[in-house]
Amino acid sequence: MKTVTLDQPFQFTLSETPEPSRCEPGEALVRVHRVGICGTDIHAYRGRQPYFSYPRIIGHELGVEIVEVGLNERGLKAGDRCSVEPYLNCGHCIACRHGKTNCCISLQCLGVHTDGGMRELIKVPVTKLHKSDTLGLDQLALVETLGIGSHAVDRAMLGMGEYVLVIGAGPIGLSVIQFARLAEVKLIVLDVNAQRLDFARRQFGVDYIVNAQDNPLARVMEITDGDLPTVVFDATGSGESMMGAFQYVAHGGRLVFVGLMQGDITFSDPFFHRREMTILSSRNSLPANFTRIIALMESGRVNTDPWITHRASADALPELFPKWVSPESGMLKGIVEF
Ligand SMILES: [Zn+2]
Ligand SMILES: [Zn+2]
Repeated sequence: MKTVTLDQPFQFTLSETPEPSRCEPGEALVRVHRVGICGTDIHAYRGRQPYFSYPRIIGHELGVEIVEVGLNERGLKAGDRCSVEPYLNCGHCIACRHGKTNCCISLQCLGVHTDGGMRELIKVPVTKLHKSDTLGLDQLALVETLGIGSHAVDRAMLGMGEYVLVIGAGPIGLSVIQFARLAEVKLIVLDVNAQRLDFARRQFGVDYIVNAQDNPLARVMEITDGDLPTVVFDATGSGESMMGAFQYVAHGGRLVFVGLMQGDITFSDPFFHRREMTILSSRNSLPANFTRIIALMESGRVNTDPWITHRASADALPELFPKWVSPESGMLKGIVEF
């Protein structure tokens, strides 16, 4: 079967590999039709993804069709189209016992820690499949990306009408924005890039955009009538931005780190304490996020039209990928087709 492997940084290889053996109980064999590309894949390509080893078959945002599955409680059968929850968890650690499968102690993400879906066929646990009778394969491949925002918004427990600031209007920020809007908050987005801000306003219905190069704190103060936002999400993955994010949080407010960076975050304790600020991290997403997102897409409440900006066949990917990752490409979501 056709397989795309990231052999080493900056080098994809297209090859023929043996098809997987028949599935064991609890597994399903699925045909991969669509693979979404995100920041994690780009970091891996550039050799900057921590805890990543080569060669690796990347691909964790998958739109698939079941080829073979044993009898299962969930009624899944051959031909069903599904999204794959790529977070393989142990099932018995402290996090798993509390239902927090997204942050399992020994979490293995398909396509990151273990070989993923950039191939025609893959075996996955039946429990990780989330089916839809009506969504297209592109949409199913987008569910994982949207899960990041959906879970982050759940972490913040947004209340209707509060001012929410999202720092960073890249894919993660837009995913947060999509779900913050459903919570009916007043949404402010801050970014250094005017085009991204404009995109967020036009395509995602953001209420206020703030350019980071144009006195942003004063501007956010002005928008919120001097109160500052009660919730701030940082979706940049930049240490500088994350440390700067504290200054935007209202007294009594919450700060959610969605993007992550390799290193230390420092802050002034008196500044933090005076505000009785709550800091939260958000990692991956939960099975319930997949279920909810599929329902929201099916009902049309989450519009996936703005997301896919780039598309390639698996055969063309090794050649096209360098163009996709260049800063000028303006890629929000690239989709690879098998
Ligand atoms: Zn991703
Ligand atoms: Zn676990």
